[in-house]
Amino acid sequence: MSQKNKKKTNSGSVLLSVLLLTAVILCLILSVLLIQTRKNQNRSQIQNIIESESESESITESESESESITESESETLPAGMVSDMTLSFYHVFLHVSDGAVMPVVRMSPDDAVDTSAVWSSSDLNIASVDQDGRIIPVSAGECTINVFSFSNPDVSAQISVKIYPDEEPLPDPQTISCSGSPRDDIQVIGGITYVNGIMIVNKTYPLPESYNPQGMTPETAQAFSELCRTASEEAELYLFSHSDFRSYQTQVYVYNDYANQYGSDSADTFSARAGYSEHQSGLCIDVNWPGDAFNDTPEAVWLEQNCARFGFIIRFPREKEAFTGYKYESWHIRYVGQEIAQEIMQNGLCLEEYLHVDSKYP
Ligand SMILES: [Zn+2]
Repeated sequence: MSQKNKKKTNSGSVLLSVLLLTAVILCLILSVLLIQTRKNQNRSQIQNIIESESESESITESESESESITESESETLPAGMVSDMTLSFYHVFLHVSDGAVMPVVRMSPDDAVDTSAVWSSSDLNIASVDQDGRIIPVSAGECTINVFSFSNPDVSAQISVKIYPDEEPLPDPQTISCSGSPRDDIQVIGGITYVNGIMIVNKTYPLPESYNPQGMTPETAQAFSELCRTASEEAELYLFSHSDFRSYQTQVYVYNDYANQYGSDSADTFSARAGYSEHQSGLCIDVNWPGDAFNDTPEAVWLEQNCARFGFIIRFPREKEAFTGYKYESWHIRYVGQEIAQEIMQNGLCLEEYLHVDSKYP
């Protein structure tokens, strides 16, 4: 090979290596650029993910906001919607052959638009219930009567029902206990309502048409006899029974007579409708002369001051019409037993206040 040729070959290989080097550098630059773009892409992807996540979080937040709106809505119900319900009793004990019993349902607020109730029985073989809430015994056993507000089904109540065979005695109101709320103390036994074992008869709690003790109960008669004797001995006052036991049928005539004379609205303030008169219980007496003329007489004053010693209360005291549903009657006394009578009279209560019940026609 000549020297010239050698030089040519040398310069050619230098050129080649320069070209190769340039290619390598270009490759390096390209790959660096590629990596950079990738990184940028990843970054923006991550950014997107973060953004979308935080968006979904804010959606969850707005969802929970709407939940809290629903909650606050349920706390403040629309005007006129039923928010609560109470029944006049929650426990019923009946014989198979007993007549129907019907609780009074009170829906609140008072201005609720639709206060209708929907009734059902857990076991129609034990007791049925009609659309007005009449509970009708069918056969021996236990079941539950359910009721809910038609306009707001969240508002509901239950009555426990126990039906006894006719030959088996009903539970004794003095000893029976249904533990729970104070409302559990109100029990309907054979159609008669007892609160803590005390019979209650008023505009909310009627007696069955068939209830007929045929006169004053023996305890009532004996206590009243002692009261009259003591009034005579201690104060030389003559007290006597003007009227005591009245049957359901008698009360039909008494009330209708007053209603015809004065109108039923007026008659309702001083005379009871049949079934709602305490006189049917055999536990009360109209002393001497029923009427406002008896008020503040020495006999009326003595009666008020001493009746509790013998187990009686002034059943319709002054200024208690809102509780009892009746005007003041100084002459009408009711037997409840000495201990309870003294508690009621000493504290200036009426029976409705003492038992925490109301007295309003359904
Ligand atoms: Zn009376």
